[in-house]
Amino acid sequence: MAAGSRKKFALDLNDIIAFPDAAHMPVFPPTERESWILLMEITANESITRPVYAVRDTTRTQFVVALYTPNPQRDARQFEIGHTLCITSARPHQFLDGQTGFRIEDSSSIQVLPVSLARLWEINAGLRARSDGGDLLKCNVCDSPSSMGCGACKSRYCSRECQRSDWPQHKRACVALKALHRWNRTDWG
Ligand SMILES: [Zn+2]
Ligand SMILES: [Zn+2]
Repeated sequence: MAAGSRKKFALDLNDIIAFPDAAHMPVFPPTERESWILLMEITANESITRPVYAVRDTTRTQFVVALYTPNPQRDARQFEIGHTLCITSARPHQFLDGQTGFRIEDSSSIQVLPVSLARLWEINAGLRARSDGGDLLKCNVCDSPSSMGCGACKSRYCSRECQRSDWPQHKRACVALKALHRWNRTDWG
């Protein structure tokens, strides 16, 4: 999949190569130039001692995610029901009790975005619409020309007033926007 750029946002979250559902993940481990991201919504906390969460993928199939990272309790702090878990180059794991899911050993392979799967798709569609309309580099609020951006996600604002008025909704979206822009520039191999 051709990567987008700073000026062109063309990320397709329905691209099954870059964002496979759990049933369509590559069978082989990734080569050095390849990666994919599994997007799942956290639906329940099933931790007893070790952090274990129920999640569902984009086809609404349920899975289990268990944290076996060096510091699982710390990594579990970002897990919240209704938020989106991203696992880079995820590969399924068969647990001893027969459940299928994901055993996370490397904390750098996971990120939780503080938005639902549905909201992530909405935010992505919004970015694509702004890009198609030639508005990606204009102020997020009033579409004026702007050269300044949010330091984290690069959303543009023409003035302090516009940035401030957008903050209540931007606060949560920012982390997701940042991830989407990063994925937009990624060549998935
Ligand atoms: Zn503005
Ligand atoms: Zn931001």
